[in-house]
Amino acid sequence: MALIRWTATCLSSLGFFPSSNPRLALHRRSFSRFPRRPLPPSTSRSESGDPVSSKVVLKEMEFPELEKWVQSYGFRSGQAMMLWKCLYGNNSWAHCYDELTGLKKEFRKMISENAILKALSVKEILTASDGTRKILFSLKDAQVIETVVIPCSRGRTTVCVSSQVGCAMNCQFCYTGRMGLRKHLSTAEIVEQAVFARRLFSSEFGSITNVVFMGMGEPLHNIDNVIKAAAIMVDEQGLHFSPRKVTVSTSGLVPQLKRFLCESDCALAVSLNATTDEVRNWIMPINRKYNLSLLLETLREELCSKHKYKVLFEYVMLAGVNDSAEDAKRLVELVRGIPCKINLISFNPHNGSHFKPTPEEKMIEFRNILAEAGCVVFLRLSRGDDRMAACGQLGEPGDVQLPLLHVPEQFQMAV
Ligand code: SAH
Ligand code: SF4
Repeated sequence: MALIRWTATCLSSLGFFPSSNPRLALHRRSFSRFPRRPLPPSTSRSESGDPVSSKVVLKEMEFPELEKWVQSYGFRSGQAMMLWKCLYGNNSWAHCYDELTGLKKEFRKMISENAILKALSVKEILTASDGTRKILFSLKDAQVIETVVIPCSRGRTTVCVSSQVGCAMNCQFCYTGRMGLRKHLSTAEIVEQAVFARRLFSSEFGSITNVVFMGMGEPLHNIDNVIKAAAIMVDEQGLHFSPRKVTVSTSGLVPQLKRFLCESDCALAVSLNATTDEVRNWIMPINRKYNLSLLLETLREELCSKHKYKVLFEYVMLAGVNDSAEDAKRLVELVRGIPCKINLISFNPHNGSHFKPTPEEKMIEFRNILAEAGCVVFLRLSRGDDRMAACGQLGEPGDVQLPLLHVPEQFQMAV
C-alpha cells in the first residue's frame, strides 16, 4: 500500500511539469511589469509564501534580465555589467551593499532600495578528515540545505550543489531520498552555493573549478531553475565555469533530460545503478515511469547530434544487488553505442538504508570487465563520509520519511 501511495504521489508530482518553455514565459512576465513593479519570480517571500517586500533578488536574473532591470531605473547597460561583476567576478562576490565597490552612489542607493543581494545564510561548516567541507545553509524560510566543497590534489576543486530540499524520487540507497520533497530551490539559492564556495574557500583551495549538481535533490525535477542557474554559472563575465565542468546529474527523467540536452551546454550525468528493470524498479522507482531501454535509447538518439559530448554514467555498487560479473557484462551491452564514461561509486552507508558496500576487490573485478570490453571507466572513492558529506548522505530526514519499498525475494539476503 505504502509503495502504491508513494508511486502515485511521486508520479503525479512529475506530471506537473509544464510542456511549453516556462523559462521564456517567466521572462516575458517579468519584463511586462517594468519599470517599478516587482518581478514575481525574484520577489522575496515570507515563510508562508506571501510577498514581504517588493525587492527583487538579483541572483534570480541572467545578465540580459539584470540589464533591463537596471535600465528600467534609468541607469546604463555598462553599470549593469559593473553590478554583475560585483556579484560574480573574481575576488568580489558581493553579499551586501557595502561590498558593491566601484559603483556610483546613486546606483548603489537604487540597488539598496530595490534589490536583495543574498539568498542564503551560512549556518555551519563541517570539515571531514580528508579536507572535504560541508556547508549548511539556512534558507529564508529556515529550511536547511547542504553544499559540499571537495578539494582535489590535482589543482581541481569541486563544489557539489543542491537543487531541492529533499527529493521526491525515493531511491532506496539514498539518504536525501528518505526526506521526500520539501521544496524546489530558486535560481538564486542554487547559484549562491557556488558563489559562497568561491568566497569561502578560494584563498585556501585555489580556484573552485568544477560544479556538480549531485547534492540534495533531483535537478531535472526543478529544471527551470537548474538550467537558469547553470547558465549564470558559465557566464564568461561572471563566475565563468567551463560548461564542460558544470555537470547536472539525474536519476533519469526522460523528457526533462531531452530538454536539458537541447537548452544547456553543460555536462550530463545519469545515475544508472542497475542493469535490469527488475532491480532498477526497486532501487530507483523512477524506472517504473522511464525504464532502462527508454532512458538509454533516448541518450543514444540525442547524443548523435552533439559534437564531442559524452554522458557520465554513475553506478553505485551495492553488495549482492548490482555488482555481479553478469551485471558488468550487461552494463557493457546497455551502454554500447552511447558516447560515455562510467563512474563506479562505492556505496556510502547511512542509517536510512540496509544496503552494504561492495568490497574493493570486487569493484576492481567489475571495473576490469568493463575496461576489457573497451569502456572508459573510473572507480570513485568516497569523499567526506565521516561528516556525512558524501554522495547520498546529505540532508536530515527527520521523523516523517518516505517508505522503504518491498525487497524482491532474491535480494532479501543482500539487505
Ligand atoms: N538526484 C541526482 C543527483 C543527486 S544524487 C541523481 O540521482 O543523479 C548524486 C549521486 O549520488 C547519484 O549518482 C546517486 O546515485 C548517488 N548516491 C545516492 N546515494 C548514495 C549513497 N548512499 N552512496 C553512494 N552514492 C549515492
Ligand atoms: Fe533523489 Fe538522486 Fe537521491 Fe535518487 S539518488 S533520491 S534522485 S537525490
